[in-house]
Amino acid sequence: MMATILDGKALAAKCKEAVKAAAQSLARKPGLAVIIVGNNPASRVYVNSKRKDCEECGFLSEEYALPEETTQAELIALIEELNGRDDIDGILCQLPLPQGIDEEAVLLAISPEKDVDGFHPMSMGSLLIGREGFLPCTPYGIMEILDEYHIDPKGKHCVVIGRSNIVGKPMALLLLRRHGTVTICHSRTPNLAEVCRSADILVAAVGKVNLVTADMVKPGAVVIDVAMNRNEAGKLCGDVDFPAVKELTSAITPVPGGVGPMTRAMLMKNTLLAAQKHQK
Ligand code: NAP
Repeated sequence: MMATILDGKALAAKCKEAVKAAAQSLARKPGLAVIIVGNNPASRVYVNSKRKDCEECGFLSEEYALPEETTQAELIALIEELNGRDDIDGILCQLPLPQGIDEEAVLLAISPEKDVDGFHPMSMGSLLIGREGFLPCTPYGIMEILDEYHIDPKGKHCVVIGRSNIVGKPMALLLLRRHGTVTICHSRTPNLAEVCRSADILVAAVGKVNLVTADMVKPGAVVIDVAMNRNEAGKLCGDVDFPAVKELTSAITPVPGGVGPMTRAMLMKNTLLAAQKHQK
């Protein structure tokens, strides 16, 4: 079977073009504030790419790089100041935060109207009960990929490996919302291979090279690889043994060029949505 390679990079470019066009019709540029605390090199890379995306979309972007020894009170004071700013529509605090800062307290401080990462308990709760709210960018981007390629979760067995708050859990809820029959697997799932083999749509969000091998995939399944790992050669790769699994699937996301670019694009989309609401 010739698998369709789900081109997240191309779709992300298209999404950002649409966001840029919509932003131009607003009275004021959408504004995104990004806070980074400490010296995590991966976080630095992510924050830089967010700045670049904002430039591309014609957004105002502000970056707050705070030192490692920043206190929780100082961080929350900054968030509260940004909550009150009329020119800032979205606030994002790059995780992980240094030890001693309670991430939950920080996320809670962000105004739900500006929670463009979708990590506030209000956003999470809205997702759970099916109310409108900001969707976490990674699962949101995956739903956009499925829609673009006319892959409908309705009635399908959707298996999500991973149950984190930022990927696995919201992914499962979005697939459920779209009428998938959803199974969530995690580190205590004893029969992972067997469960995965029954998936029509398999989403891997773990962070382990070659966790998903060809014997775990049903022929014709759709495979979404969320992970961003480095293999022994230092090359970026996902959880899925791509060359072998690709031969079996009807469609599969590559790493890189699949889920990652769509995650970034959805942050821009969420910021646009925040600005549209805010300016009404
Ligand atoms: P996480 O918080 O570390 O969660 C990993 C999940 O995988 C946990 O639920 C864990 O189970 C489960 N797990 C661990 N080992 C397992 C095993 N052997 N079998 C089955 N499940 C297992 O990670 P995350 O933040 O969700 O991120 C997951 C991956 O996606 C990472 O590689 C990350 O870099 C990547 N990611 C990519 C993007 C993107 O834009 N492409 C965005 C976010 C994250 P327990 O709950 O039982 O511990």
